[in-house]
Amino acid sequence: MATDLVGRFSGPADLHAHSNHSDGTESPARVVQQMHSYGVRTMALTDHDRTSGWREAAEQASQLGMTFIPGMELSAAHGWRSVHVLAYLFDPDDPALATECHKIRDDRWGRAERIVGRISHDYDLSWDDVVAQARDGATIGRPHIADALIARRIVQNRGEAFDGILHPRQGYYEPHYAPDPLRAVQLISDAGGVAIIAHPVTAGRDRMMPLEYYEQLIEAGLAGVEIDHRENTAEGKKLLRALAAEHDLIVTGSSDYHGSGKPNRPGENLTSNPMVQRIIDRATGSSVVYPDGSSG
Ligand code: AMP
Ligand code: FE
Ligand code: FE
Ligand code: ZN
Repeated sequence: MATDLVGRFSGPADLHAHSNHSDGTESPARVVQQMHSYGVRTMALTDHDRTSGWREAAEQASQLGMTFIPGMELSAAHGWRSVHVLAYLFDPDDPALATECHKIRDDRWGRAERIVGRISHDYDLSWDDVVAQARDGATIGRPHIADALIARRIVQNRGEAFDGILHPRQGYYEPHYAPDPLRAVQLISDAGGVAIIAHPVTAGRDRMMPLEYYEQLIEAGLAGVEIDHRENTAEGKKLLRALAAEHDLIVTGSSDYHGSGKPNRPGENLTSNPMVQRIIDRATGSSVVYPDGSSG
């Protein structure tokens, strides 16, 4: 693959991936190795609501001559809509953001236990089964419940669990605490980070936040939208491109790799080098780790 240099990093760039510090199935180092083997040369680790995987991932990226961009996927909620906000290059020690992440992660545990309690009335599944699927300290979520259902041979894979038992209409579901997107964007921006809405249009236009609300988010510091993502609809991508053009937003593309937890493969969608540079130029909260091991 061609390696075009813009500034100090090298493409191709995939800026959205999960390790077992949240709901991915592989260690941070393994995620980096997988990215490398698929030809990705600039990557971000974006575990849900936590940053504990950064160090291991950055070290592995340096060893492989890759550029590492620290990131996170912050959970938010707009009414009934679950909204994910990608955050890049923020200060992981910013007190307000760190406190909010802690609150989300905490609530996720109680919520998962209550969901499992309801499921256990109908299926042979215990809370211990689910805890056994999550790495110590991981941000817990429905994917870990799915993995426990797989281990119990109740379903074959995560997709089947999400289409069935874990789907809100089945009656076991409940949401977890999350800040509204406006607050999420403000927290990330105040921590020196770059906020980008992840997979904004996953099931048609009616699931996209209203355009007027996007205007408010942009006002509050929203930097961009993730357009090239396998779960965005074709119609939604058109809408997003128009929105991005109108407001000169950063536009990204990424795999949202979760190891074996999803069919998504590293590098299946990429972010252009000029867009990566815009993210780097905008951020003030933490440093990119470059292939020569330097950071800045
Ligand atoms: P939660 O945050 O606990 O509500 O769970 C949502 C997470 O489940 C998201 O971060 C996705 O990565 C994952 N997820 C959603 N749908 C699926 C699916 N069909 N297959 C595998 N993982 C999924
Ligand atoms: Fe996930
Ligand atoms: Fe997401
Ligand atoms: Zn994700």
